[in-house]
Order: sequence, then structure tokens, then C-alpha cells
Amino acid sequence: MYDVVIIGAGPSGLAAALYLLRFDKSVLLLEKGAFGGQITYSPLIENYPGIAAASGNEIAEKLVDQVLSLGAEAEVGRAVGLKPKGRGWEVLTEEGAVYEGGAVILALGAKHRTLGLAGEEAYIGNGLSFCAVCDGAFYKGKDVVVIGGGNSAKQEALFLSGLCRRVTMVQNLSVLTGEPRLTAKVLATPNISVLYDSAVTAYTGDTQLRGVTVRNTLTGESQTLATDGVFVAIGLEPDCKDFASFLTLDEAGYVASGEDCTTKTPGLFVAGDCRAKAVRQITTAVADGAVAALAAASYLDAQNG
Ligand SMILES: Cc1cc2nc3c(=O)[nH]c(=O)nc-3n(C[C@H](O)[C@H](O)[C@H](O)COP(=O)(O)OP(=O)(O)OC[C@H]3O[C@@H](n4cnc5c(N)ncnc54)[C@H](O)[C@@H]3O)c2cc1C
Repeated sequence: MYDVVIIGAGPSGLAAALYLLRFDKSVLLLEKGAFGGQITYSPLIENYPGIAAASGNEIAEKLVDQVLSLGAEAEVGRAVGLKPKGRGWEVLTEEGAVYEGGAVILALGAKHRTLGLAGEEAYIGNGLSFCAVCDGAFYKGKDVVVIGGGNSAKQEALFLSGLCRRVTMVQNLSVLTGEPRLTAKVLATPNISVLYDSAVTAYTGDTQLRGVTVRNTLTGESQTLATDGVFVAIGLEPDCKDFASFLTLDEAGYVASGEDCTTKTPGLFVAGDCRAKAVRQITTAVADGAVAALAAASYLDAQNG
């Protein structure tokens, strides 16, 4: 039995582990994918205080090393349910494992939003990607499309512009959104072009994705762009439904909680991007992790008299 089981090893879960370990609490980090979370998709992070520029993987590695060296235990598995047991919890995984914790911190982050178009699922890994850092090298010297126009889409496009012949961004608004500095970089990059007021309405191809149909939302005209690869960067959505019976979710599916990271269920805490809040960044994720950890530590101390 661990003092705390943390579900999700992104920045919020890792920060929570760090604070708990420093309070002499035993910690299990349970992660279904990449230790480090979403930042492992990010080619370049320039807004984490104290680090002028680093790749997401570099920051993730430092965070993971730090908590492992302090004694965190880590398991790979997808948590699919929680069961109260005594004064604590059982965490059940898809793989059939059961982990026990006196308290649980949900640090589930968010998953990539998809367009929901026909064939999308089948094209993932066959020309369709959500991660330039992971898959960009497959498209060296080729033409790619990036769907989206916010910070993540701009980061993806800039990273790909260093590898690919041509990068076409498809943005449904008449401007690129997010940080003006990133927008300026995109607009100054010769092999990136932007189709504004445009929506991808279909994927074309056979077993391999070969193109996208793009509709101009102002004129209603459609064109098919031939492409070697498509990167979707249209934001994220939470995935907290497996634990919903113990939580209050807002209309978008994020976990409602105060700034103290408590939930409506004693002993169950929430941190990071899966929490209902206005700003979702590494800084706010690690801040949540610290707050949730201290709340969980106080909860356990009160339980144990
Ligand atoms: C391409 C990209 C670029 C970005 N660039 C920046 C940037 O430059 N600066 C910045 O501040 N922020 C950036 N962000 C945002 C930042 O990465 C997130 O705000 C931050 O990672 C949130 O941390 P988190 O721990 O809350 O969630 P996540 O990083 O999403 O981590 C959650 C983890 O939980 C795991 N998980 C989820 N459900 C389960 C389950 N049921 N069982 C087990 N494990 C589970 C997931 O696999 C994941 O690893 C970027 C995001 C992306 C996608």
C-alpha cells in the first residue's frame, strides 16, 4: 500500500510526487503512455521559468529523474477505475493490476482533439499524426499539412519547417491565435504558408493518407491538397469519465475543484490540465501538483492521527 497513488506522470503528477516524497510519503506514479506527459510532444519550450529554451523531452527527463532519485515508484498501466477500500483506495488498471493508496491524485492531463472525419482512426500512423517531435522525421524533404492555428499548431509547423519541404497550415479563423512572438516566427518562415478561414472537411487516400479536402468557410469553395503527412493540432480535451462517479465534471468534462485541488470526494485530489481552470501550461500544472500533494499529505496526516 502506498501513501499516495498518482494517476498520470505529466508535469503535474511529477511535481506532486516531488512534494510528497519530500514529506516522506510513499508514492506510486501510474502512467499509461509517456512519462513526462504532453510536454514530450513539444519540440521547444521557451516559457518555463529558469529554462530559456529546452525540448519537452529534456524537461520531462529531468522531472522524471528527480522523482525517481527521491524514491518514487513507477508503473506502466492505464487506470480505469477506483474503488474505496478501508480508509483508502484501490486503483484498477486495464491490464488487471490493482494498486492501493491512502489517497489518490488524478493528474490525467488531456488528450488530443480529433476532427472526427471519416477514416481518421485508420490514418493515424499512416500519414496522420498528432506529434511532430515523434513523427516529423518520417516527412523529411516532404510536404505536410498542419491543422490548427494556435500555439501548439505553430510550434508543430515551426519544427516541421526545419525538416520538410513545405508546411501548409490550415486555420479556421482569419488570424493565428496565441503568442504573437510565435506568430511572427511562423509568418517569417519562408516554407510555411497559412490557409486562413479554412476547414479540413475530408481526408483522401487509400491505406495511406494522401491529401485533405479544404473548404474556404467564407467562399464555400473546396480544394484538395496533396500531402505526404497531416499533423492535427486543434487542442485537447479531458478524459476523466472513468472516475466520474467520484467527481463533479464541468460541461466540458474537466474536474471541478477549488484552488486547493480537492474534489468532492475526501482522499481524492486533482491536479493539472484535467482540472477546470483558465490556464493550462507547465507552470500551472506543476503548481497544481504541489498544491494537491500538500493537500493529500495533510489529509493522510489527519487520517493517521
Ligand atoms: C505540442 C504541445 C506543446 C506545448 N507547449 C507548451 C509550452 O511551450 N509551454 C507550456 O507551458 N506548456 C506547453 N504545452 C502544455 C503543457 O504540456 C501542459 O499544460 C502540461 O503538460 C500539463 O501537464 P499535466 O500533468 O496536467 O498533464 P499531461 O502532460 O497531459 O500529463 C498527463 C499524463 O497522464 C497520463 N494519463 C492520463 N490518463 C491516464 C490513466 N487513466 N491512467 C494512467 N495514466 C494516464 C497521460 O498519458 C499523461 O502522460 C504544450 C502542449 C502540447 C501538446
